[in-house]
Amino acid sequence: TKHFPVRRRLRQIFRKEHEAVHAVDDVNLTLRRGQVVALVGESGSGKSTVARLLAQLYPRTDGDIRLHGVSTRVKGGRPFREYAARVQMIFQDPFASLNPVHTIRYHLTRALKIHGNAENLDAALHDLLTRVSLTPPERYLDKFPHELSGGQRQRVAIARALGARPEALLADEPVSMLDVSIRLGVLNLLRDLKERLNLAILYITHDIASARYFADQTLVMYAGRMVEGGDSETVTQTPAHPYTKLLIDSAPDPDRLIADIDPLEEDRGNGEPPSLIRPPSGCRFHPRCPSAMPRCSTDLPVPLQIGDTPGHWAACWLYDSPEVAS
Ligand code: SF4
Ligand code: MG
Repeated sequence: TKHFPVRRRLRQIFRKEHEAVHAVDDVNLTLRRGQVVALVGESGSGKSTVARLLAQLYPRTDGDIRLHGVSTRVKGGRPFREYAARVQMIFQDPFASLNPVHTIRYHLTRALKIHGNAENLDAALHDLLTRVSLTPPERYLDKFPHELSGGQRQRVAIARALGARPEALLADEPVSMLDVSIRLGVLNLLRDLKERLNLAILYITHDIASARYFADQTLVMYAGRMVEGGDSETVTQTPAHPYTKLLIDSAPDPDRLIADIDPLEEDRGNGEPPSLIRPPSGCRFHPRCPSAMPRCSTDLPVPLQIGDTPGHWAACWLYDSPEVAS
C-alpha cells in the first residue's frame, strides 16, 4: 500500500503561564489513499491538535511528518511545499473559515490560483461545485457565505480544499456544528469523494458512532495519547480499552448513526479528562478507570495486540498477559 503522510512519535508541548501543556504525546498514525481514519476523543483529548500538527500549523514540534516516506519537516523545502498542497484541512465551523466579504467564486478562484489549477477557470469552478453537489453552479458562484446554509457553506469549504487537488483531507469535526438532519449528507459526500478521488481522510470526531459508520480505521485518544486502534468495526463492536468502552456506553443511542449531543459533554458522571499540565502518572486514564490495578498509576501502558484481529491494539495493562488477551 502507498503510505500517505506518516507521522511518527509526535509530541506537542504548549507553554502556558510557565507550565508545559502536553497536548499530544507519542502519537503515531498513517493515512492511506482511499481510506478514512477516524480519530475519536472527547474535548481536550488533543485530537484537534493532531489535525493542526498534521496541517503543519505549529512552528515547532518534536517528531516527523512524512509524505510518501519523505520527511517534510524542513519548512520552505520542496517536500514541505508539496505536502502543504497535497494535504488540505476542513475546519469545524464553515462560517468562520469563509471570508464574509467575498463571494464563493472568489474563494474557489483563489484556491485554484494558489495551487496552479486555474488554467480553465470557468470549467474548474463548475467542476468543484458539481463535485460537492452544489448545482447548478451558477446559482452559487456569486453568492456570499451568509446567503448559504451551514451545510452549503461546509460544501463550499470542501470544494475549496479540492481546488488544491489534494491527496488527503484533514477534517476536524466537519459536521458537529451542522444541523443533525444534514450531517449524514456531508459525511456521505466526503465518503463519495474519498472513493472517486482516491483521497486519504482523517476524520476527527467526538462521536464514536459516526466513526463506525464512516471510517475504515478508528483511533481513540485520551489525554493526548492514543489508547486504542484498529478497524472501525472491531474497535466499536468489541472495544478493548476501558475508555473506549466508556465512550460507547455513554452514547445515548448505540444504534444511531450520528449523535446530536456529545455524550461525555452532557454527562460528566464518570469524571472529567485530566489536566494536560500535569497528566496523571502511569496510565492517564487510571483516575477514571473502573478496572485500574496498582501498576496502572505508575507504569505507562504500551500498545498491546488484542486477540487475533490483525491491527487491533490497546494501550492497557489488562491485556498484558496472553491468557487475558485471547
Ligand atoms: Fe484502566 Fe489500567 Fe487499562 Fe489504564 S492500564 S485503562 S487504568 S486497566
Ligand atoms: Mg476540537
